[in-house]
Amino acid sequence: MNRFSGKTAIVTGGNKGIGFAMAERFAAEGANIVLASVEEQVEDAASRLCDCGVDAIGVLCDVTDKAAVQALYSLAEETFGGVDISVQNAGVITIARIEDLAEWQWDATMEVNTKGVFLCCQEAILRMRKAGRGGRLINIASGQARDGFIYTPHYAASKFGVVGITQSLAKEVALEGITVNAICPGIIKTDMWSYNDRVWGALLGEYGPGELMDAWAQNIPMKRVGEGKDVAGLAAFLASEDADYITGQTINVDGGLIMS
Ligand code: NDP
Repeated sequence: MNRFSGKTAIVTGGNKGIGFAMAERFAAEGANIVLASVEEQVEDAASRLCDCGVDAIGVLCDVTDKAAVQALYSLAEETFGGVDISVQNAGVITIARIEDLAEWQWDATMEVNTKGVFLCCQEAILRMRKAGRGGRLINIASGQARDGFIYTPHYAASKFGVVGITQSLAKEVALEGITVNAICPGIIKTDMWSYNDRVWGALLGEYGPGELMDAWAQNIPMKRVGEGKDVAGLAAFLASEDADYITGQTINVDGGLIMS
């Protein structure tokens, strides 16, 4: 399939994990790609996408910085002539018991996961509206936008917020050929779950490497955690013409973990 030939997709947090898997899928189907991240490796990641025969650029951009987000979308327009698909994927998590959860953790999580999605959606809509050829916004929420997990009230709040942004904007732009949908990945094996102090804080050490993922998998009806490509398939569908009549929706990709 070459559903995205001639189109341009921006993917934030796109240098690895779920973001890179989605970008790879868009590229495999012909889209030019703009990867954005706070990591230097974003340029290498973009050059790997060029192997698919598309053009791709990697841009350092902190999604919490409005000026940087504006510059990102301007660069995409200058380089590729517009933005057709905007995937708000950049996200962070920390895990802590309530007595240890610091105010900075709340603020940092809301800044990236919720404000970052808002800023990118705002910029994407303004550009798509001006170009007048519609567009697709895909916001990466989480299973925690359905059902907050333990030790992560800040993350759950930030992801419930993503669903709210999605529904509100979907209504605002419905007559402009722009759809806005959200994806709720379940437990996907990426660096987000790597065993480091930043993520696990004081809980580090309660689980050995791999143990927690194995334990979680037992609660999933399909008995496996997900991979980036599981999410990429849905993102590609939502960005395609087959999803023309779908907007404001929030869809789980989680092997049946959450059924609401
Ligand atoms: P990764 O940690 O692998 O990737 C997240 C990417 O976002 C990283 O490249 C990260 O850079 C980047 N990023 C972080 N902060 C910013 C910022 N301010 N501006 C731009 N980029 C930033 O995570 P995943 O691929 O697992 O997660 C992708 C999305 O999916 C996130 O929104 C996450 O919340 C969501 N999700 C993931 C699940 C999972 O099980 N993996 C489950 C449900 C939802 P750096 O590493 O330098 O911080």
